[in-house]
Amino acid sequence: MTTTVIRNAGWAILWDATARRHVYRRNVDIAFKDDRIVHAGPGFAGQVDVAIDGASRLVMPGMVNVHTHCMSENIGRGITEELGNPALYMSALYDLKSVFLVGHSMSPDQGHVAGFRAATDMAVSEILLSGGTTVVDLAVPYEGWLDGLAATGIRAVAAPMYRSARWVVRRGNQVEYEWDEAAGRRAFTAALAVVDAAARHPSGRLSGMVSPAQVDTCSESLLRDSLAAAVERGLPLTVHCSQSVVEFQEMARRHGKSPVQWLADIGLLGPHTLLGHTMFVDSQSWVGWWSRRDVPLLAETKTSVAHCPTVFSRYGQTMESFGAYVRAGINMALGTDTQPHNMLEELRTALVLSRIASCDVHLVELADAFHAATVGGTTALGRDDLARIAPGAKADLVLVDLDHPAMQPARDPLRGLVFSAADRAVRDVFVDGRQVVSAGEVTTIDRRAAAERLTRAQHAVMAAVPAVDYARRTADQVSPLSLPLG
Ligand SMILES: [Zn+2]
Repeated sequence: MTTTVIRNAGWAILWDATARRHVYRRNVDIAFKDDRIVHAGPGFAGQVDVAIDGASRLVMPGMVNVHTHCMSENIGRGITEELGNPALYMSALYDLKSVFLVGHSMSPDQGHVAGFRAATDMAVSEILLSGGTTVVDLAVPYEGWLDGLAATGIRAVAAPMYRSARWVVRRGNQVEYEWDEAAGRRAFTAALAVVDAAARHPSGRLSGMVSPAQVDTCSESLLRDSLAAAVERGLPLTVHCSQSVVEFQEMARRHGKSPVQWLADIGLLGPHTLLGHTMFVDSQSWVGWWSRRDVPLLAETKTSVAHCPTVFSRYGQTMESFGAYVRAGINMALGTDTQPHNMLEELRTALVLSRIASCDVHLVELADAFHAATVGGTTALGRDDLARIAPGAKADLVLVDLDHPAMQPARDPLRGLVFSAADRAVRDVFVDGRQVVSAGEVTTIDRRAAAERLTRAQHAVMAAVPAVDYARRTADQVSPLSLPLG
């Protein structure tokens, strides 16, 4: 047993279990024995093996990234940030981005495993360096996935995706569905084996989540059986829902109602379910639908929402609004979905876009967004021992440098961190009591080596684009450089 104490923390964000909220405290000791916090308050008097001077530190709970795709997104850096198809309501998901990422990630048996691992190493590095200590990794299972995740040192929830249909874009203005129920069933069985393996992983930091991929690509029976499998295992379920206008229209065409209302009809909503994105609800202005039921329905059923503002903002889209969802009583959680996997920038983006969408500064405030990035996430995951600093909780801790110039003046350090310094001021990170970031460097991952492998993987993905794209365009035609190369 090793006992570590962060002595006399200049500032700390502790969990007030009675009020169920984070609060600031000053000049406190935070002690943890191996993986568990044993003390959070003044004057720790127990035996100490390692003492850290906390005078110039903000000590905060590690955040939870409830929705991202580690295996693919970093491969698209410099390619996907400005893609969008106007004929598909600006989304790049179905054709432009998919020729780089979905094509890549949906074919794990074609020699891309090294690329998946490199992308995962880089993604997890970014999460840790920005104060995230838990990640929900939505991936198509590939060889070595669980061991690779565990080796990064992060706490990970493996969410192996499967589906009954895949999207096909033949002309650039229409998404078609190619159904293969039997293949979906086989992938479902394989995914459950991965979920069960995660729970047994010797690292003790992995768990699983049942993850039918998208509301529009999974049959009703596959969704119902997915929920049954989740309930049987006591695990949460996650599915992308209301992530594009195209998807909303398709579900309205099939069922005459919104994707959220259809999921309610088939029993999928509830405290066990985390919906990915859920931006294009019936009341969203791009959708133009007549009902106003989705947001209240999500609150009434205690369904959680994984809000990932950055990726949609690149298409000119926003939730309407994060603040309105919070005030309606929905359990909101935050994810990055894409690169950069910067939890602190994601928090800031969530706040800024919410204010623009609602024309209201006070509808949602930093305390709400920080709650979403921590306890909102753990509520969605069914964990009450993560993302809070209190005795008994896991020692997933982030130490921020109050002396960093970008934090000055450090009058309100959480504001300084989110609105100004972001990941630059994150200094040390502990997951399960083990230090994984030291003086701003990830100790568990060789980022330089991962970067080289990632660049090679990007070249391979770009070379394959003409074979995947419906118009046989090259990668440079789909995504030209931002400036002409003279
Ligand atoms: Zn996603």
